[in-house]
Amino acid sequence: MHDRSNGTRATTAAARSSRGTHPNAGASSAAPTAARPSRGGRAATAEVAGIRITSARRVIDAASGIRKLDLVRYYERIAPWLLPQLRDRPVSLVRAPQGVGGETFFQRHIGRVPFPGVTQHEGLDPGHPPLLTIDTLEALIVVAQMDAIELHTWNAHATDIERPDRVVFDLDPDPELGWDRMIEAALLTRATLADLGLESFCKTSGGKGLHVVVPLTPEVGWDDAKAFSRALAHHLAASRPTQFSATAGAEHRRKKVFIDYLRNARGASTAVAYGVRARPGMGVSVPLTWGEVPQTTGGAQWTLANIDARLADCGDADPWAGYGRVRQRLSAALTARLESDAGDAAP
Ligand code: ATP
Ligand code: MN
Repeated sequence: MHDRSNGTRATTAAARSSRGTHPNAGASSAAPTAARPSRGGRAATAEVAGIRITSARRVIDAASGIRKLDLVRYYERIAPWLLPQLRDRPVSLVRAPQGVGGETFFQRHIGRVPFPGVTQHEGLDPGHPPLLTIDTLEALIVVAQMDAIELHTWNAHATDIERPDRVVFDLDPDPELGWDRMIEAALLTRATLADLGLESFCKTSGGKGLHVVVPLTPEVGWDDAKAFSRALAHHLAASRPTQFSATAGAEHRRKKVFIDYLRNARGASTAVAYGVRARPGMGVSVPLTWGEVPQTTGGAQWTLANIDARLADCGDADPWAGYGRVRQRLSAALTARLESDAGDAAP
Protein backbone atom coordinates (compact mmCIF):
# COMPACT_ATOMS: atom_id res chain seq x y z
CA MET A 1 0.00 0.00 0.00
CA HIS A 2 2.91 2.31 0.46
CA ASP A 3 4.03 4.74 -2.13
CA ARG A 4 7.52 4.15 -3.29
CA SER A 5 7.20 5.40 -6.77
CA ASN A 6 7.90 9.07 -6.34
CA GLY A 7 11.38 10.11 -7.21
CA THR A 8 12.29 11.41 -3.82
CA ARG A 9 15.97 11.89 -3.26
CA ALA A 10 17.93 9.58 -0.99
CA THR A 11 17.19 10.17 2.64
CA THR A 12 20.08 10.94 4.93
CA ALA A 13 20.43 9.28 8.30
CA ALA A 14 20.18 12.72 9.84
CA ALA A 15 16.87 13.40 8.18
CA ARG A 16 15.57 10.02 9.23
CA SER A 17 16.54 10.43 12.84
CA SER A 18 14.83 13.82 12.98
CA ARG A 19 11.30 14.04 14.37
CA GLY A 20 9.95 12.35 11.28
CA THR A 21 9.01 9.10 12.98
CA HIS A 22 5.93 7.57 11.42
CA PRO A 23 4.40 4.13 11.30
CA ASN A 24 6.54 3.28 8.35
CA ALA A 25 9.72 4.98 9.49
CA GLY A 26 12.74 3.79 7.61
CA ALA A 27 10.77 1.48 5.37
CA SER A 28 9.94 3.87 2.59
CA SER A 29 11.78 6.01 0.15
CA ALA A 30 9.05 8.58 0.77
CA ALA A 31 10.68 9.48 4.08
CA PRO A 32 11.57 13.12 4.64
CA THR A 33 13.62 14.74 1.95
CA ALA A 34 16.05 17.43 2.89
CA ALA A 35 14.16 20.65 3.35
CA ARG A 36 16.54 23.51 2.84
CA PRO A 37 15.35 26.75 4.30
CA SER A 38 17.12 29.60 2.59
CA ARG A 39 18.26 32.66 4.45
CA GLY A 40 15.84 35.41 5.30
CA GLY A 41 13.17 35.26 8.00
CA ARG A 42 9.51 34.57 7.38
CA ALA A 43 9.68 34.49 3.63
CA ALA A 44 12.21 31.64 3.46
CA THR A 45 11.69 29.02 0.83
CA ALA A 46 12.36 25.33 1.19
CA GLU A 47 12.22 22.27 -1.00
CA VAL A 48 10.18 19.23 -0.06
CA ALA A 49 9.89 16.18 -2.32
CA GLY A 50 11.25 18.28 -5.14
CA ILE A 51 8.56 20.96 -4.74
CA ARG A 52 9.52 24.54 -3.90
CA ILE A 53 7.75 25.64 -0.74
CA THR A 54 7.28 29.38 -0.46
CA SER A 55 6.78 31.27 2.81
CA ALA A 56 7.95 28.10 4.52
CA ARG A 57 8.42 29.78 7.87
CA ARG A 58 5.10 31.57 7.94
CA VAL A 59 3.08 30.70 11.04
CA ILE A 60 -0.21 29.27 9.76
CA ASP A 61 -1.83 28.65 13.14
CA ALA A 62 -1.35 31.26 15.83
CA ALA A 63 -2.74 28.91 18.49
CA SER A 64 0.04 26.35 18.07
CA GLY A 65 2.75 28.31 16.27
CA ILE A 66 2.73 25.69 13.50
CA ARG A 67 4.48 26.91 10.36
CA LYS A 68 3.70 26.16 6.77
CA LEU A 69 6.82 23.98 6.48
CA ASP A 70 5.66 21.91 9.50
CA LEU A 71 2.42 21.13 7.67
CA VAL A 72 4.17 20.32 4.40
CA ARG A 73 6.69 18.08 6.11
CA TYR A 74 3.92 16.28 7.98
CA TYR A 75 2.18 15.57 4.69
CA GLU A 76 5.46 14.28 3.29
CA ARG A 77 6.05 12.01 6.31
CA ILE A 78 2.53 10.66 6.40
CA ALA A 79 2.33 10.10 2.64
CA PRO A 80 2.86 6.31 2.87
CA TRP A 81 -0.31 6.12 5.00
CA LEU A 82 -2.23 9.01 3.52
CA LEU A 83 -1.79 8.38 -0.21
CA PRO A 84 -3.67 5.05 -0.14
CA GLN A 85 -6.59 7.00 1.38
CA LEU A 86 -6.43 9.65 -1.32
CA ARG A 87 -5.49 7.77 -4.44
CA ASP A 88 -8.16 7.83 -7.15
CA ARG A 89 -10.82 9.34 -4.84
CA PRO A 90 -12.19 12.71 -5.92
CA VAL A 91 -10.99 15.23 -3.37
CA SER A 92 -12.10 18.64 -2.14
CA LEU A 93 -9.50 20.96 -0.69
CA VAL A 94 -9.90 23.49 2.08
CA ARG A 95 -7.30 26.13 1.31
CA ALA A 96 -6.42 28.71 3.91
CA PRO A 97 -3.98 31.18 2.31
CA GLN A 98 -4.04 33.39 5.42
CA GLY A 99 -3.77 30.43 7.75
CA VAL A 100 -6.19 29.09 10.33
CA GLY A 101 -8.83 31.67 11.21
CA GLY A 102 -8.45 33.48 7.89
CA GLU A 103 -10.72 33.14 4.89
CA THR A 104 -10.92 29.56 3.57
CA PHE A 105 -11.71 28.25 0.09
CA PHE A 106 -13.51 24.96 -0.35
CA GLN A 107 -12.31 23.83 -3.73
CA ARG A 108 -13.47 20.85 -5.81
CA HIS A 109 -11.92 22.01 -9.06
CA ILE A 110 -8.81 23.77 -10.22
CA GLY A 111 -9.34 27.51 -10.41
CA ARG A 112 -7.10 30.00 -12.12
CA VAL A 113 -3.94 28.63 -10.54
CA PRO A 114 -2.74 25.25 -11.86
CA PHE A 115 -1.89 22.40 -9.48
CA PRO A 116 0.91 20.51 -11.22
CA GLY A 117 0.69 16.79 -10.57
CA VAL A 118 -2.94 16.79 -9.44
CA THR A 119 -5.00 14.49 -11.69
CA GLN A 120 -8.01 16.05 -13.40
CA HIS A 121 -10.93 13.85 -14.40
CA GLU A 122 -12.80 15.43 -17.26
CA GLY A 123 -16.45 14.38 -17.53
CA LEU A 124 -16.65 12.56 -14.20
CA ASP A 125 -19.07 15.13 -12.85
CA PRO A 126 -21.20 16.05 -15.87
CA GLY A 127 -21.81 19.78 -16.21
CA HIS A 128 -18.92 20.62 -13.89
CA PRO A 129 -15.20 21.16 -14.37
CA PRO A 130 -12.96 18.12 -13.88
CA LEU A 131 -12.91 16.51 -10.45
CA LEU A 132 -9.49 16.19 -8.85
CA THR A 133 -7.55 13.30 -7.36
CA ILE A 134 -4.27 13.35 -5.45
CA ASP A 135 -2.44 10.25 -6.58
CA THR A 136 1.22 10.99 -5.91
CA LEU A 137 3.51 12.48 -3.30
CA GLU A 138 4.21 15.33 -5.69
CA ALA A 139 0.51 16.22 -5.98
CA LEU A 140 0.12 16.07 -2.20
CA ILE A 141 3.02 18.44 -1.61
CA VAL A 142 1.85 20.73 -4.42
CA VAL A 143 -1.57 21.22 -2.81
CA ALA A 144 0.06 21.79 0.59
CA GLN A 145 2.30 24.39 -1.02
CA MET A 146 -0.93 25.97 -2.35
CA ASP A 147 -2.15 26.33 1.27
CA ALA A 148 -4.52 23.37 1.18
CA ILE A 149 -4.73 22.26 4.79
CA GLU A 150 -7.79 19.97 4.70
CA LEU A 151 -8.39 17.17 2.20
CA HIS A 152 -11.90 15.69 1.92
CA THR A 153 -12.56 12.60 -0.15
CA TRP A 154 -15.59 11.07 -1.84
CA ASN A 155 -16.95 7.67 -0.91
CA ALA A 156 -16.05 6.26 -4.33
CA HIS A 157 -13.12 5.92 -6.66
CA ALA A 158 -12.89 7.86 -9.89
CA THR A 159 -12.60 4.59 -11.78
CA ASP A 160 -15.98 3.41 -10.42
CA ILE A 161 -17.66 6.68 -9.60
CA GLU A 162 -21.30 5.55 -9.52
CA ARG A 163 -20.71 2.78 -6.96
CA PRO A 164 -19.66 3.93 -3.50
CA ASP A 165 -17.14 1.72 -1.72
CA ARG A 166 -17.94 2.94 1.77
CA VAL A 167 -20.52 4.78 3.81
CA VAL A 168 -19.54 7.20 6.56
CA PHE A 169 -21.43 8.16 9.70
CA ASP A 170 -20.39 11.48 11.13
CA LEU A 171 -20.98 11.56 14.88
CA ASP A 172 -21.22 15.10 16.22
CA PRO A 173 -21.67 15.60 19.96
CA ASP A 174 -23.71 18.38 21.48
CA PRO A 175 -21.12 20.66 23.14
CA GLU A 176 -22.70 19.96 26.54
CA LEU A 177 -22.31 16.23 26.20
CA GLY A 178 -19.45 14.47 27.97
CA TRP A 179 -17.01 12.63 25.71
CA ASP A 180 -17.89 9.35 27.42
CA ARG A 181 -21.32 9.60 25.82
CA MET A 182 -19.65 10.05 22.47
CA ILE A 183 -17.68 6.85 23.00
CA GLU A 184 -20.89 5.02 23.88
CA ALA A 185 -22.54 6.35 20.74
CA ALA A 186 -19.68 5.21 18.52
CA LEU A 187 -19.66 1.72 20.09
CA LEU A 188 -23.42 1.48 19.67
CA THR A 189 -23.15 2.48 16.03
CA ARG A 190 -20.56 -0.24 15.58
CA ALA A 191 -22.73 -2.84 17.36
CA THR A 192 -25.78 -1.95 15.28
CA LEU A 193 -23.77 -2.33 12.09
CA ALA A 194 -22.28 -5.60 13.35
CA ASP A 195 -25.79 -6.86 14.00
CA LEU A 196 -26.42 -6.39 10.29
CA GLY A 197 -23.23 -8.27 9.50
CA LEU A 198 -21.29 -5.11 8.66
CA GLU A 199 -17.77 -4.41 9.91
CA SER A 200 -16.86 -0.77 10.59
CA PHE A 201 -13.82 1.36 11.40
CA CYS A 202 -13.49 4.48 13.55
CA LYS A 203 -11.38 7.64 13.33
CA THR A 204 -11.25 10.94 15.11
CA SER A 205 -12.46 13.78 12.89
CA GLY A 206 -9.61 16.05 13.97
CA GLY A 207 -12.40 18.44 15.01
CA LYS A 208 -15.24 17.79 17.44
CA GLY A 209 -16.26 14.23 16.83
CA LEU A 210 -15.72 10.77 15.39
CA HIS A 211 -16.32 9.23 11.98
CA VAL A 212 -17.49 5.63 11.58
CA VAL A 213 -16.55 4.18 8.19
CA VAL A 214 -18.19 1.09 6.67
CA PRO A 215 -16.19 -0.36 3.78
CA LEU A 216 -18.24 -1.80 0.93
CA THR A 217 -17.63 -3.83 -2.13
CA PRO A 218 -18.75 -1.37 -4.81
CA GLU A 219 -22.06 -2.65 -6.00
CA VAL A 220 -25.12 -0.52 -5.21
CA GLY A 221 -25.42 3.09 -6.37
CA TRP A 222 -25.47 6.36 -4.45
CA ASP A 223 -29.22 6.39 -3.81
CA ASP A 224 -29.16 2.96 -2.21
CA ALA A 225 -26.11 3.79 -0.09
CA LYS A 226 -27.77 6.95 1.12
CA ALA A 227 -31.07 5.16 1.80
CA PHE A 228 -29.21 2.59 3.89
CA SER A 229 -27.29 5.19 5.88
CA ARG A 230 -30.43 7.23 6.41
CA ALA A 231 -32.27 4.14 7.67
CA LEU A 232 -29.43 3.31 10.05
CA ALA A 233 -29.29 6.84 11.46
CA HIS A 234 -33.06 6.95 11.93
CA HIS A 235 -33.04 3.50 13.48
CA LEU A 236 -30.51 4.64 16.09
CA ALA A 237 -32.40 7.86 16.78
CA ALA A 238 -35.68 5.95 17.17
CA SER A 239 -34.33 3.13 19.31
CA ARG A 240 -32.04 5.28 21.46
CA PRO A 241 -33.83 8.63 21.52
CA THR A 242 -32.00 9.92 24.57
CA GLN A 243 -28.63 9.29 22.93
CA PHE A 244 -29.00 9.99 19.21
CA SER A 245 -30.61 12.50 16.92
CA ALA A 246 -30.69 12.05 13.16
CA THR A 247 -32.15 15.51 12.57
CA ALA A 248 -29.84 18.42 11.79
CA GLY A 249 -29.99 21.52 13.94
CA ALA A 250 -28.67 22.21 17.42
CA GLU A 251 -32.17 22.20 18.94
CA HIS A 252 -32.66 18.53 17.98
CA ARG A 253 -29.48 17.22 19.46
CA ARG A 254 -29.45 18.87 22.86
CA LYS A 255 -27.40 16.51 25.07
CA LYS A 256 -27.35 13.99 22.23
CA VAL A 257 -25.05 12.82 19.49
CA PHE A 258 -26.11 13.90 16.04
CA ILE A 259 -25.59 11.03 13.62
CA ASP A 260 -25.17 12.61 10.21
CA TYR A 261 -25.68 10.33 7.22
CA LEU A 262 -25.63 13.09 4.60
CA ARG A 263 -21.95 12.42 3.85
CA ASN A 264 -23.21 9.54 1.76
CA ALA A 265 -24.71 11.42 -1.14
CA ARG A 266 -23.00 11.63 -4.51
CA GLY A 267 -20.57 14.55 -4.38
CA ALA A 268 -20.37 14.67 -0.58
CA SER A 269 -17.00 14.23 1.07
CA THR A 270 -15.41 13.61 4.44
CA ALA A 271 -12.11 14.74 5.93
CA VAL A 272 -9.56 12.11 4.92
CA ALA A 273 -7.93 9.79 7.46
CA TYR A 274 -4.50 11.21 8.45
CA GLY A 275 -5.49 14.63 7.09
CA VAL A 276 -5.06 17.90 9.00
CA ARG A 277 -7.88 20.31 9.94
CA ALA A 278 -7.75 24.06 9.39
CA ARG A 279 -8.81 24.83 12.93
CA PRO A 280 -6.93 26.27 15.91
CA GLY A 281 -4.45 23.66 17.14
CA MET A 282 -4.55 21.86 13.76
CA GLY A 283 -6.20 18.58 14.67
CA VAL A 284 -5.47 15.43 12.69
CA SER A 285 -8.07 12.83 11.73
CA VAL A 286 -6.63 9.64 13.24
CA PRO A 287 -7.69 6.03 12.51
CA LEU A 288 -8.22 3.98 15.66
CA THR A 289 -8.76 0.37 16.56
CA TRP A 290 -12.14 -0.16 18.22
CA GLY A 291 -10.22 -1.21 21.31
CA GLU A 292 -8.71 2.27 21.53
CA VAL A 293 -11.97 4.15 21.19
CA PRO A 294 -12.92 3.93 24.91
CA GLN A 295 -9.62 5.60 25.83
CA THR A 296 -10.04 8.58 23.51
CA THR A 297 -10.54 12.04 24.96
CA GLY A 298 -11.81 14.07 22.02
CA GLY A 299 -12.07 14.52 18.27
CA ALA A 300 -8.97 16.72 18.27
CA GLN A 301 -6.99 14.58 20.70
CA TRP A 302 -4.26 14.38 18.09
CA THR A 303 -2.92 17.47 16.39
CA LEU A 304 0.15 18.36 14.40
CA ALA A 305 1.84 18.99 17.75
CA ASN A 306 1.45 15.42 19.09
CA ILE A 307 0.75 13.24 16.07
CA ASP A 308 4.32 11.97 15.83
CA ALA A 309 4.09 10.33 19.25
CA ARG A 310 0.87 8.61 18.20
CA LEU A 311 2.42 7.36 14.99
CA ALA A 312 5.50 6.15 16.83
CA ASP A 313 3.26 4.23 19.27
CA CYS A 314 1.60 2.50 16.35
CA GLY A 315 4.90 1.55 14.78
CA ASP A 316 4.17 -0.51 11.71
CA ALA A 317 0.77 -1.59 12.99
CA ASP A 318 -2.14 -0.24 10.99
CA PRO A 319 -5.09 0.60 13.28
CA TRP A 320 -7.30 -0.19 10.31
CA ALA A 321 -5.60 -3.50 9.54
CA GLY A 322 -8.12 -5.72 7.86
CA TYR A 323 -9.95 -2.84 6.16
CA GLY A 324 -8.73 -3.95 2.76
CA ARG A 325 -9.87 -7.54 3.31
CA VAL A 326 -13.44 -6.66 4.22
CA ARG A 327 -15.95 -7.92 1.67
CA GLN A 328 -19.45 -6.76 2.46
CA ARG A 329 -22.33 -5.28 0.54
CA LEU A 330 -25.50 -3.35 1.09
CA SER A 331 -28.88 -4.65 0.00
CA ALA A 332 -32.45 -3.46 -0.09
CA ALA A 333 -33.18 -6.17 2.48
CA LEU A 334 -30.78 -4.61 5.01
CA THR A 335 -32.33 -1.20 4.59
CA ALA A 336 -35.83 -2.66 4.87
CA ARG A 337 -34.82 -4.47 8.05
CA LEU A 338 -33.65 -1.20 9.62
CA GLU A 339 -36.80 0.57 8.56
CA SER A 340 -39.08 -2.09 10.01
CA ASP A 341 -36.99 -2.28 13.21
CA ALA A 342 -37.07 1.48 13.82
CA GLY A 343 -38.18 1.93 17.39
CA ASP A 344 -37.28 -1.57 18.53
CA ALA A 345 -34.56 -1.97 21.09
CA ALA A 346 -31.08 -1.66 19.67
CA PRO A 347 -28.52 -4.31 20.64
P1 ATP B 1 -16.34 17.79 13.34
O1 ATP B 1 -15.94 16.57 14.04
O2 ATP B 1 -15.84 19.00 14.02
O3 ATP B 1 -17.83 17.77 13.11
P2 ATP B 1 -16.23 17.10 10.58
O4 ATP B 1 -15.13 16.79 9.65
O5 ATP B 1 -17.08 15.95 10.94
O6 ATP B 1 -15.64 17.76 11.88
P3 ATP B 1 -17.00 19.56 9.21
O7 ATP B 1 -15.61 20.05 9.27
O8 ATP B 1 -18.05 20.44 9.75
O9 ATP B 1 -17.22 18.16 9.96
O10 ATP B 1 -17.25 19.27 7.67
C1 ATP B 1 -18.45 18.86 7.19
C2 ATP B 1 -18.37 18.43 5.74
O11 ATP B 1 -18.93 19.45 4.97
C3 ATP B 1 -16.96 18.22 5.20
O12 ATP B 1 -16.58 16.88 5.21
C4 ATP B 1 -17.03 18.74 3.79
O13 ATP B 1 -17.23 17.69 2.87
C5 ATP B 1 -18.21 19.65 3.81
N1 ATP B 1 -17.78 21.05 3.78
C6 ATP B 1 -17.00 21.67 4.66
N2 ATP B 1 -16.81 22.96 4.32
C7 ATP B 1 -17.54 23.14 3.19
C8 ATP B 1 -17.78 24.25 2.33
N3 ATP B 1 -17.23 25.44 2.58
N4 ATP B 1 -18.58 24.07 1.27
C9 ATP B 1 -19.14 22.87 1.01
N5 ATP B 1 -18.94 21.79 1.79
C10 ATP B 1 -18.15 21.92 2.85
MN1 MN C 1 -18.57 15.81 12.35
